[in-house]
Amino acid sequence: MNDIRITGLRARSVIVPLQYPIRTAVGIVASSPLVLIDLQTDSGVTGHAYVFTYTPLALKPVQRMVEELATVVEGQPLAPLHIDQLMQSRFRLIGNTGLVRMASAGIDMATWDAKAKVHRLPLVELLGGVARPLPAYDSHSMDDVQLATSRAKDAAEAGFSAVKTKIGYPTLEHDIKVIRSIREVVGDGVQIMVDYNQGLTVPEAIRRGRALEQEGVAWVEEPTLQHDYAGHGQIRNELHVPVQMGENWFGPEEMDKALSAGACDLCMPDLMKIGGVSGWLRASTLAEQRGMPMSSHIFQEFSAHLLAITPTAHWLERMDIAGPIMEPTLRFKDGMAHFGEMPGVGIIWREHEIERFAV
Ligand SMILES: [Mg+2]
Repeated sequence: MNDIRITGLRARSVIVPLQYPIRTAVGIVASSPLVLIDLQTDSGVTGHAYVFTYTPLALKPVQRMVEELATVVEGQPLAPLHIDQLMQSRFRLIGNTGLVRMASAGIDMATWDAKAKVHRLPLVELLGGVARPLPAYDSHSMDDVQLATSRAKDAAEAGFSAVKTKIGYPTLEHDIKVIRSIREVVGDGVQIMVDYNQGLTVPEAIRRGRALEQEGVAWVEEPTLQHDYAGHGQIRNELHVPVQMGENWFGPEEMDKALSAGACDLCMPDLMKIGGVSGWLRASTLAEQRGMPMSSHIFQEFSAHLLAITPTAHWLERMDIAGPIMEPTLRFKDGMAHFGEMPGVGIIWREHEIERFAV
């Protein structure tokens, strides 16, 4: 099987509607801009992955970057770490970050998916692990009282034991009103995480964080600018509630800097920004060395396989950004994610829907 070669790469852009727009303290993602990647091999197996570009402005540049990378990977053996190293060395001078990293991470993911399919194994088993149900939290937006309450109620009724809401309203009182309205409908048995999406200054984060401690929230996520590791560390030292961050770390090298600066109690690398499956494996070692609980950020299909082999696995984030264009092979029941019945990651495109949402 070592003689299987990569024969081509296809990248397609779509903008997929979201059931709920992702509202944050610093802006709205109204629909989901995705680049879909198909990595073809001479064995007949195709690896699938998608990357999320946050804004439609980045959609075509990322698609183009993936297409350009075909010249690097075509003809190469289907060997994910080898491909990762090829891309790393190609980007040594420009820096493997930003849009470049998003494209290279997407190719990394598709390579791992193809590799697992060739071996007829779920990705988790190719990586030496066992598929098991994973605790998942239902991830919501800056929805204000009415919608926040109804979404939390739905999640609790569906069996979720944790929900996350985005806050950072104009006043602390407003933040607390939303949290209390959620608590009222979910009761004490459901954990509530909160996410500021970098919206506060350091002193304001400390002021609000002290009040939120009294509300029993499970974590406070990105209370201030994501690159301000010292500021996060300062907030963390002032609060008893755990500080969570990680979705904006580009590569394990940034995660290492943040952890070395003592920026957080909990970590949640984003599969794409951290560098795909290969990047996640390195990140999970950093978390393991510090005994730090590690959760996922979107990309729920791949993340399930990876959390199952992460020594300090914490929560899977359930936030569906690609639902309409894929078959629902990842299932949620009683607050647990169930996966791993199919070879690879379990991504099956709905071609008809992809055509419909093509850009
Ligand atoms: Mg977040």
